[in-house]
Amino acid sequence: MAESPVVPRCQGVTVLGATGSIGTSTLDVIGRHPARYRVHALTAHRSRESLLTLCRRHRPAVAVLEREADAGWLRECLAEEGVATEVRSGAEALVEAAEAAEADVVMSAIVGAAGLLPTLAAVRAGKRVLLANKEALVMSGALFMEAVARHGATLLPIDSEHNAIYQCLPVEHRGGLARHGVTQLLLTASGGPFRGWSADALVGVTPSQACAHPNWSMGQKISVDSATLMNKGLELIEACWLFDASPDQVQVVVHPQSVIHSMAAYNDGSVIAQLGNPDMRTPIAYGLAWPERIDAGVQSLDLFAVARLDFEPPDEVAFPCLRLAREAMAAGGTAPAVLNAANEVAVAAFLAGRLSFTGIAELVARVRDAQPVHPATELEAVLAADAQARHAAERHLASL
Ligand code: NAD
Ligand code: MG
Repeated sequence: MAESPVVPRCQGVTVLGATGSIGTSTLDVIGRHPARYRVHALTAHRSRESLLTLCRRHRPAVAVLEREADAGWLRECLAEEGVATEVRSGAEALVEAAEAAEADVVMSAIVGAAGLLPTLAAVRAGKRVLLANKEALVMSGALFMEAVARHGATLLPIDSEHNAIYQCLPVEHRGGLARHGVTQLLLTASGGPFRGWSADALVGVTPSQACAHPNWSMGQKISVDSATLMNKGLELIEACWLFDASPDQVQVVVHPQSVIHSMAAYNDGSVIAQLGNPDMRTPIAYGLAWPERIDAGVQSLDLFAVARLDFEPPDEVAFPCLRLAREAMAAGGTAPAVLNAANEVAVAAFLAGRLSFTGIAELVARVRDAQPVHPATELEAVLAADAQARHAAERHLASL
């Protein structure tokens, strides 16, 4: 007689940043598997209408917004409709949603440094942490990875490139790449909307041009990062921490079709790649179900429609952010946190029309040059470096 399949226990999921691009893709995958996943908590910054819609559909036990006024509005709306969600506000509520006993899995999909404390809380509570919020790891790499090991958290990368590399490495890959015969990680990059443009042509580009990514639909901040190649720089740092790699073991390969999501090269000449349509539900489903596989709602790749795959080296003259990130990783300590903070301020200023596109890299370099590098073994040092770099960036902006 055939054995009946083992039905996994229904897992509680907290989605930090539920109203964003990654958050809604996560809820799309979860909604396809109601017997496997139930939503414990959904959090958002200020988008209360979007959170209301998600609460109606997913009936979380807890919902969190930044401001109490927004939380009060959501509480009233849900009470009128008879939805029994507890609505909370503030940073402490965010951390509690991440470490709650009812959450087995935490999707970290807040954008930027705001995601650091709740993501670390999930790690310290030993959760399965699905990491989309790369900025958290870039800021605090050493202490983040140390906390993962100490608290027995299961860290699964959601960034498509790192998820691809994870799939291309042996299941047990701790202790350095060389031990497993891996010689290089090949981090693919689409090149963004301005691939092939000269530095001069980039001066006048607008936020709407920068946010029009050729292959992926994403939040505004990561779209601008993709256009400057800072996203690839942050991902290079992310790869070093996740896979215990040195910056020179990570090669960035521009691949405009975004079909190969990244690769691992081995000492026997093998290069293993992960391919798929550019849809974040694939890495999200992988992270949710690992080591199993579940339906993500993503069409299988049609290689005849893709027809060809192109590769080229990145242009670090027109796109200096990639070099700035590599240098920050080499400098170590708080340097990546400074890079990240300066970039967040610069991107916000660009989106607000206060800074040119090429001004983003200039501002990051100026802040970097003015900030001392400290050891980053304590969270306080990371948060202080982040705050000081933001102040310095705002001062430079004001002087422009
Ligand atoms: P997004 O802007 O679409 O969504 C961000 C989410 O975070 C929203 O729910 C928003 O309400 C919440 N948020 C924003 N600021 C906050 C704050 N200060 N406090 C609390 N919550 C806050 O962003 P996204 O594109 O979904 O990206 C989220 C993260 O995932 C980023 O770190 C990004 O780099 C990473 N990522 C995204 C993609 C993608 O395809 N979108 C791919 C790889 C990695
Ligand atoms: Mg990515």
